[in-house]
Amino acid sequence: MEYKIKTIGVLTSGGDAPGMNAAIRAVTRTAIYNGIRVKAIYRGYKGLISGEIKEFNTQDVSGIIQRGGTILKTARCPEFRTTEGRALAYQTIQREEIDALVVIGGDGTFTGARYLAQEYNIPIVGLPGTIDNDLWGTDSTIGYDTAVNTIMDAVDKIRDTASSHERVFFVEVMGRDAGFLALNSAIAAGAEAAIIPERRTAEEQLIEYIGNGFRKSKNSSIVIVAENPEIGGAQGMADKLKELHPEYDVRVSILGHMQRGGSPTAYDRILASRMGVAAINALLEEQRSIMIGIANDEIVYVPFNKAIKDDKDVHQDKVEVLQILSI
Ligand code: ADP
Repeated sequence: MEYKIKTIGVLTSGGDAPGMNAAIRAVTRTAIYNGIRVKAIYRGYKGLISGEIKEFNTQDVSGIIQRGGTILKTARCPEFRTTEGRALAYQTIQREEIDALVVIGGDGTFTGARYLAQEYNIPIVGLPGTIDNDLWGTDSTIGYDTAVNTIMDAVDKIRDTASSHERVFFVEVMGRDAGFLALNSAIAAGAEAAIIPERRTAEEQLIEYIGNGFRKSKNSSIVIVAENPEIGGAQGMADKLKELHPEYDVRVSILGHMQRGGSPTAYDRILASRMGVAAINALLEEQRSIMIGIANDEIVYVPFNKAIKDDKDVHQDKVEVLQILSI
């Protein structure tokens, strides 16, 4: 018997990222273009369990491509981690006659989706929506480019005060397990160093930075630090430097949630639009349990298992670029 998707559900889950709205728009319009109905699910898996659902037409996604955040809201949902919670979610799926799901989020979102797909016979396609860029199999995630640009702009401003006062600034950015934001924004903003989780210990990286003689030719310095509670983040690094070099005027700036917000860059809007179209095409091709990725500017399908589990490493050449250009 031929299986045809008549209705899809779409949700955003986990941490919000700029470009999620562009993705919602593309998914909605591509589905409708193909004669598929769209049920928008609010507040991620929480709304899937409680049935917070509204049918979308093409106008419901008008005027949102330029907006940060997500019009569908997002939430963490501990209940979805249990088989009972997912059973309730599936009841909603059946009641609403949803034949397939598009989930927009990060690795947690895909882990949950994979469980649901294993337990119930439901096709699910994921779109990588996270500023961290920490999913394997895609060169970039939706929101990452915007976040790098936001950090770059902030660091440019910090640079003005750092050089006027001849200070050393430790700027903390998001990315607990991944240094993509820190390394790339450091290159873009011309920072002197980035302290990232992928390379040796933070302390060794700090010692290396000091050893590079950062004060020989410059009167100010900026070090980007990927947030890491174990080393006390940027504050921990600043305390360590003050201990070793009490003569330096050391300051800390934690950028925080501003990194998640703002209007998405052209790159993120285009990426989200292409990925949203690809999600519906993948479902029409009877794909399931995959994430849409981008590799060498081509759309690729990445099984959830690989996207979640395999570690994506930062490019070693970028570590060298930063080192060479900060002398
Ligand atoms: P992200 O998708 O950005 O990584 P989270 O890690 O917060 O964000 O995950 C989003 C949601 O996905 C969680 O609130 C939870 O509902 C679901 N989820 C995460 N991990 C699991 C898991 N191991 N099993 C089932 N559901 C999960």
